Amino acid sequence: MRCAILGDIHANLQALEAVLADAREHGCSEFHCLGDVVGYNANPRECLEIVRNLPGACVLGNHDKAAGEEGSLEGFSSNAALSLEWTRTILDADQKAWLGSLRPQRQIRKSTLVHATLDSPESWGYIRAVPEADLSMACQRTPLCFTGHTHVPKVFGQGVGEMLFFENADGVELPKSPKLLINAGSVGQPRDHDWRAAYMIHDEEVGGLWLRRVEYDVESASRAVLDAGLPAKLAERLRTGA
Ligand code: ZN
Repeated sequence: MRCAILGDIHANLQALEAVLADAREHGCSEFHCLGDVVGYNANPRECLEIVRNLPGACVLGNHDKAAGEEGSLEGFSSNAALSLEWTRTILDADQKAWLGSLRPQRQIRKSTLVHATLDSPESWGYIRAVPEADLSMACQRTPLCFTGHTHVPKVFGQGVGEMLFFENADGVELPKSPKLLINAGSVGQPRDHDWRAAYMIHDEEVGGLWLRRVEYDVESASRAVLDAGLPAKLAERLRTGA
């Protein structure tokens, strides 16, 4: 069984379609989403419909939660808040209800899925370094936990710290550690200075895990952001991956 782990799609339809094609080409038959299906980019309706129909699970992200309700957007950057206000006008009641039905964490066999951290899933804290990773792993009851939210792919091992791994290298074995915390990167808005869409493939039989980087039509995705009247900065950051 091969699963594709998709983090932070953020309404980027061009990136999502390219990633799904790549994952299917590599034999993935389950597709799990780490939240933030919507927000920032121009195709929240289309991305939501694709994700809700995929075989697999999806957890709640902070943008999903905010887009599905009417509450204050305090705590979001001004561009994120502008995009979320627009997203609320674009989604219908049924789509908002689906976002509202997402749970903050899910367990799929030996893996846990969460958008932010396991120690406080709905505080939306960021795991950028070992101390935050350790706090989350203290609450981790499965050998693997997949997370998103920072838009930067990373692997942490319990008692090991941050671990190296390789992108687009087929069949890389999982680093040895009793518990791994894996950030799958972002499909729709990478922030590690690489504009290509990021996702991970987990091969449960082989115990392999690898990061994929996929080129997609980033020009169309940025143009769609501008055409929707969303901030130009959001279009620009897609091209730089920042
Ligand atoms: Zn996000």
